[in-house]
Amino acid sequence: MRKTIIAGNWKMNKTHTEAAKTLKELAALVIDKENLGGVEVIIGAPFTALESAVRATEGTPIAIAAENMSEHASGAFTGEISATMLKELGVEYVILGHSERRAIYGETDATVNAKVKAALKAGLKPILCIGEQLEDRESGRTNEVNGTQLKGGLEGVTTEDMANVIVAYEPVWAIGTGVTATPEMAEETHAFVRSALVELYGNAVAEEVTIQYGGSMKPGNAPELLAQKNIDGGLIGGAALEADSFYGIIAAGK
Ligand code: PEP
Repeated sequence: MRKTIIAGNWKMNKTHTEAAKTLKELAALVIDKENLGGVEVIIGAPFTALESAVRATEGTPIAIAAENMSEHASGAFTGEISATMLKELGVEYVILGHSERRAIYGETDATVNAKVKAALKAGLKPILCIGEQLEDRESGRTNEVNGTQLKGGLEGVTTEDMANVIVAYEPVWAIGTGVTATPEMAEETHAFVRSALVELYGNAVAEEVTIQYGGSMKPGNAPELLAQKNIDGGLIGGAALEADSFYGIIAAGK
């Protein structure tokens, strides 16, 4: 049985005090593991808020993710943060290859792949983001682009490691725009991503990988999206900033 995982991505929002406050509010709504009915909850926070976020969620079922990290283990990389630094803080997950990292900071499939492998080596669980631009979709290249990003990001990742990898399909045209892929459109691409995972790792492994949808997911559209066969959770930006709306999505996943 695949896990349903609802993850928030706060991006460059919230100071460490704001992060702790929102997480206390969220923890009060989440209550405990039993109340989540098997849904796993993750919050991706900025580097400066991670320590407070880990502390604020101790003893709760909320796990913390970083939003990026270096592909290097240590050394002369001014301003960078390593997987080991995150792991030692109590961070469990790391969002990698987000479309903003690819578009604004020039991350390639090779960079993302190096980061995925560095995360796994340090015991962090990567959330590998993939997704097509609007022009890719309009020119019929949706599957090609997602297939390339998926295979590129997972190059050299073993079957055993796949138990610790989450894939997030985020059509770039739906991120932060208020435009959501219809549940049917999203399901079609999720099914394609699953078939690409079957090609890479075989059916048994592919069936166990959680594939999240991301792109203007909200409490209102989450039930229909999460009801799709191959949509196993969400990666949520805007609607994860407030505890109430994020919990509305979590509740839809139960
Ligand atoms: C995201 O940034 O990963 C995202 C899905 O953002 P939003 O929910 O705001 O579209």
